[in-house]
Amino acid sequence: MINTFTNKNLERFNLDWELIQSELRLKLGTEVYESWIRKIKLVEEFNNYILLSVPTRFIRDWITSRYLDQILQNIKKHKKEIIRIEFKIIENRDKKLESSIDLSQTVKDEKVSFIKDTHLQYTRIDPNKRFENFLTGSSNKIAFEASLKVSENFSYYNPLYIYGGVGLGKTHLLNSIGHQMNKNKKVMFISAERFMYQFVKSIKSNDMVKFKEYFRNTDVLLIDDIQFMNGKEAMQEEFFHTFNALLEKGSQIIVSADRPPNKLMRIQERIKSRFSGGLVVDIQKPEYDLRKKILNHKINELTTLYSEKLNISDEIQDLISTKIKTNIRELIGAINRIASFSRIYNKLPSLAETKVVLKDLLNLKENTVNIDIIQTVVCKFFKISKNEMLSSRRSRYLVRPRQTAIYLTKILTTKSLPEIGREFSNRDHTTIIHSVKTIEKLKENNPEMNDNINKLKNIILYNKQDEI
Ligand code: ADP
Ligand code: MG
Repeated sequence: MINTFTNKNLERFNLDWELIQSELRLKLGTEVYESWIRKIKLVEEFNNYILLSVPTRFIRDWITSRYLDQILQNIKKHKKEIIRIEFKIIENRDKKLESSIDLSQTVKDEKVSFIKDTHLQYTRIDPNKRFENFLTGSSNKIAFEASLKVSENFSYYNPLYIYGGVGLGKTHLLNSIGHQMNKNKKVMFISAERFMYQFVKSIKSNDMVKFKEYFRNTDVLLIDDIQFMNGKEAMQEEFFHTFNALLEKGSQIIVSADRPPNKLMRIQERIKSRFSGGLVVDIQKPEYDLRKKILNHKINELTTLYSEKLNISDEIQDLISTKIKTNIRELIGAINRIASFSRIYNKLPSLAETKVVLKDLLNLKENTVNIDIIQTVVCKFFKISKNEMLSSRRSRYLVRPRQTAIYLTKILTTKSLPEIGREFSNRDHTTIIHSVKTIEKLKENNPEMNDNINKLKNIILYNKQDEI
């Protein structure tokens, strides 16, 4: 599969993780996939277990409690020896790393599996990405209009080159063009990665003539993520000739990239200059109004889908549209996650819960926790004073909050038991152990207690000091 190209450590893995992910997408649905599964990365593969990574503890717990069996089942289909999955939390992964390709390795790699030549193989138009559901604002209007023009008015701009950052709608627009023109033209929609894959494959199987014919026979050629078409002189040569042949016979070419033509790396000058020769348009980061519009649209769509209103408060909508500024995919992902949460728990998340659920998307850092904050939050929550908490009085209404604060200090800080004892008016470390054990037991048997602890944990970790 072409997808394995993105896997830098091909040699270390027998499992094709991206294939497994796409199977999980089919099995669990796009919403679950986009909300939780997409974020899972394969870190390491062992004989009978694998190590996966996710960006937050919350996502790990969510996946573990709901999808682990299904994920394991799918993994077992490919490698039956795997009996266990382990997770590692890796925050803020470098996005560039994910999209890097090492072609030299790919070409040598014998594990690349060959698939039969079919039209489907080159053309994968997603019928859900159309002009009608592409929302516009000042940041993407020009790209949208140019795309529309091209699909209505053959060869109006040729080539059309659309560029912009990750998750801003380039693939959506290319799909829309493909979808529209497919009605009466021969359309080919291929990612640059797949183009390279087919190229390498054709050389290996002596099918170059067929490959050339295939590409030169199309009325509309859409190539997604052209920035990946780097290196490999012979392939660029072939691409350049195909490109010229198509332009000569009047075929329409549309290209997308994450940067303007002159910034493309390791791509021949003459190809870049060809790209610049048509119309070059960019998609900017979505402005606030567009973010709001997309948010509303998505909420309505989910409401129609599940025929129950998703009453996300203005406060939460505001949080999302002010914090997620640079990626429309993540904006939509945030709403999907909230919908997912509300279906499971039968209620919408509170503001504090939203921050936990969306931590990785909102780029929230956990607060630096110290004993003072824990004591303040717990006192406020149980409506007692700090003096009361630290006193030696053993009234029931003081004992529970005190034990709770001690428990939270144990799990949220690295303080030792004697240190914690000192901070709680020089209590003995055995008292501290007793408190921790008591709360652990209560948590197990008393849902309200469990709920309170989670609430407190969220407030301590994610709320701003002035909200406490
Ligand atoms: P890119 O190819 O630029 O990385 P995509 O086209 O894959 O981005 O878009 C990411 C997600 O956001 C897709 O689900 C797409 O449908 C959605 N999306 C992007 N822009 C818009 C828009 N203007 N209106 C509606 N949905 C959008
Ligand atoms: Mg894309």
